Amino acid sequence: MAQQHKKAFPLLDKSHSHACIIFDNFAHFRQVAAQYILDGLLDREKCFMAVDTYQKSYIAEDFLSLGYDVEDFISIGSLSIVDVKESYFEKDGFNPNKIEAFWIEQTKQAVSEGYKALRVVGEATFGLGSQNLSDKLMRYENIIKEVLFPHFPFKSLCAYDKSLYPAKVIKAAIRAHPILFYNNELFLQNIHYIPPEIHFQESQELEIWLDNVRKNNENLKSLAEQETKFRLLFEEAPLPYQSLDENGTISEINQSWLDTLGYSKDEVIGRNFGEFLPPDYVTHFKESFQKFKAVGEVIGVEFEMVKKDGSTILVGLNGKISRGPQQVFRETHCIFHNITEQRQSEKAIQRQNILISGINSIFAAVVKNADDREFGKTCLLIVERVTESPLSLLGETGSDDLLDIAASNPTWEKCSLGNQQDSTNKRRLPHLEGLYATVFKKGRGFLTNNPASHPDSKGVPPGHPELKCFMAAPLKLNDKTTGMISVANREGGYTDEDLATLKTLARVISDALSRRRAQKALIDQEIRYRNLFMNSPDAIFLNRHDKITLVNNACIRLFGAQKAEDLLGRSPYELYHLDYHEKLRERIYRIRNLNESLPPYETKIVRLDGTSVEVEITSKGYMFGDSLDIHVILRNVTEKRRAAEELKRSNKELEEFAYAISHDLQEPIRSIIGFLQLFISKTPSERVDDRALMYLDRAIAASRRMKGLIDNLLSLSKVSTNGFKVRPTELNQVVGIVLENLHSTLTERNVEVICQDLPVMAVDADLIQRLFQNLMANAIKYNTSHAPVVEIGCRPSDDSYEFFVKDNGIGIEQKFQERIFRPFQRLHTSQEYEGVGMGLTLCKRIVERHHGRIWMESQPGQGSTIFFTLSASLGGHDC
Ligand code: ADP
Repeated sequence: MAQQHKKAFPLLDKSHSHACIIFDNFAHFRQVAAQYILDGLLDREKCFMAVDTYQKSYIAEDFLSLGYDVEDFISIGSLSIVDVKESYFEKDGFNPNKIEAFWIEQTKQAVSEGYKALRVVGEATFGLGSQNLSDKLMRYENIIKEVLFPHFPFKSLCAYDKSLYPAKVIKAAIRAHPILFYNNELFLQNIHYIPPEIHFQESQELEIWLDNVRKNNENLKSLAEQETKFRLLFEEAPLPYQSLDENGTISEINQSWLDTLGYSKDEVIGRNFGEFLPPDYVTHFKESFQKFKAVGEVIGVEFEMVKKDGSTILVGLNGKISRGPQQVFRETHCIFHNITEQRQSEKAIQRQNILISGINSIFAAVVKNADDREFGKTCLLIVERVTESPLSLLGETGSDDLLDIAASNPTWEKCSLGNQQDSTNKRRLPHLEGLYATVFKKGRGFLTNNPASHPDSKGVPPGHPELKCFMAAPLKLNDKTTGMISVANREGGYTDEDLATLKTLARVISDALSRRRAQKALIDQEIRYRNLFMNSPDAIFLNRHDKITLVNNACIRLFGAQKAEDLLGRSPYELYHLDYHEKLRERIYRIRNLNESLPPYETKIVRLDGTSVEVEITSKGYMFGDSLDIHVILRNVTEKRRAAEELKRSNKELEEFAYAISHDLQEPIRSIIGFLQLFISKTPSERVDDRALMYLDRAIAASRRMKGLIDNLLSLSKVSTNGFKVRPTELNQVVGIVLENLHSTLTERNVEVICQDLPVMAVDADLIQRLFQNLMANAIKYNTSHAPVVEIGCRPSDDSYEFFVKDNGIGIEQKFQERIFRPFQRLHTSQEYEGVGMGLTLCKRIVERHHGRIWMESQPGQGSTIFFTLSASLGGHDC
């Protein structure tokens, strides 16, 4: 079969199978009959055409015009075309019973052959000339209704040529068929239809007629109601609706159409639809309207329509066409949406998406591009894509107020501006003027779609492409304009929205640039710290979750490893001597869980070759992200210890030597003094003149000074070399002895001594007595006051006691306050104040032997205070 057939009379199947056609136009009869039969054939029905004037050649022709070859059906037996006379016309004329028998037989045959039904077209010419034809017809129809239709799948279309029959017969035919064609017009409800069984009962016939008329009236009423309902629906429909005739003339529109476009009905009906389109759409409409008519429907077509105020809206249109008899185009039924806003918001979303993807790309470029220039170029490509611009430029102001062109796109490169380079190999615009400068001057972006007439325009230099439109936005850092980004020559110019987009991009680029630079600075710093770490002379490693995660070069060397990987990932326990494991566990616990900072600790590590090395461990915990790293510094102490021991040994040797010398010199100096004194006393005075006597006195004085020096040296070396006898000592008692020793001086000088209560401490009592004695002696000696006051006191501090000896003496300048603790350092001559400058040196040595500290606070003329500390945890032991 040639094509998908759409039934011409589908309604016939639903309502009733018994139809008749009354015609005075033979062409109409042909058309209806051919379509009626084709409906059946294509629905697997067997068809029978009992024809007279409608000859086979006509049928073939009509089938062909519908796209079918009648022979195809005849050859397979689904269609029989017979002359009425050959089929049921008999000599005795029209015999209803015979015809009934004939159809029953034919129908059975068709069913047995697998058809759904028997469909018949019969020209009623066989009845011509029959007596009482109208009555016979009624009987025949009665038989069909009573016997054929209820029991057999039988459908028929009886044809009556109006010109051949008397009116009475035509009337009878009309009354006998519930479905009626008049020519090619179909009446599904034939109000003149009288069921055959009451055909001969006139009173009932009347009732039926009246009833039919009433029903018809009701039908008309409900039709009218429905029409109003649908019209209202159409009128009130929230979407614009329109119908166009075959020329595209508007035949129907609803209120929504008028509201949407702002016209009144009179201004629209009868006008061509093309008149409501922008000029460039008109030809397109003409073409597509032809297609629409051919295809029968359009879905989602988008185009612009012109409103009465001249503005345009974008619409999306769906439509169908309706057809009349013979599928002839009748009109279009179209609804459309005003999708202007929808498109705008879609466009806005699209722009937003492009912008967001642009921003993402800029941030991605921060990481990818090696230098600012490359980064700038990547940014420009993104900006060009987002703003649909063929030209772009990105620059920052140099220190000399010229514009360093950080990056430009290839078009700029080609024009002469791009080739200007200075000694620093930077490309720069010679003068910051024109449209670019406006951004800097005003510190904000702007756009112009007519650059030539812009007041700030300086025109374009040679080689520069003509500017059709221009838009620029500043790069800012902390509110200061540091550069600008500009684009130009987008098709159709720029809008405020475009400027907003460019400003956003400029902000992102500024941010990204400063981020890049900060990142670079960070990387440089990181490299610096890494170098510092890697090349530190101390071995350092990082312990994270008891795994070594970072080591430096000294650490690699210390453990005798070849490379970092030899140590990374190992547990610190592997690297320490077994003896230290317990301590290590405790230290890690204290660092991690108690957040303690621990003093250095000395232990042994095990090198990869199994040998061990003594180290001093300093470890500290740092939070890194959410894990606590322990930073471990290892210092090889083998060397240090050897050096310290060596130093100790040589110091001891030196001290022993000093002790021996000062001790051994004591005797000869005592002899010198003794003999000099003996010489003076035993030599008669006349033999020694005054001059010689003066020399001798001087020699004795010098020797005594020498003795003093030697005594002091001896005392000093004794502090270090003699045994250190620490025992609990009542310091009040010690000071009491000192006061007694100094009794005569104190009385002589009338010194007031204020002494606070002092503690009992574990100290070397002899040394501490020397300490107080020296300090008190100085406090009195370097005191010219008429009422000298010396105050002794103490207060607890940390792990020690802080003592002081305060006087109201001469005081000393700040700059000398350290020097006076060095050996033989004096601020006065021995004529002014007697002494050798060893007193405070001795004091310092004594205090340090007690793990303390000594210092002076003083001002000239305001007295001095010597402070010293003595450790309270020295313990009582000899050492
Ligand atoms: P000497 O008293 O033998 O000179 P010291 O070592 O005891 O040696 O003192 C060193 C110097 O410190 C003194 O020469 C003096 O100038 C200064 N000095 C020490 N004690 C005091 C003090 N209480 N007031 C002012 N100056 C002092």
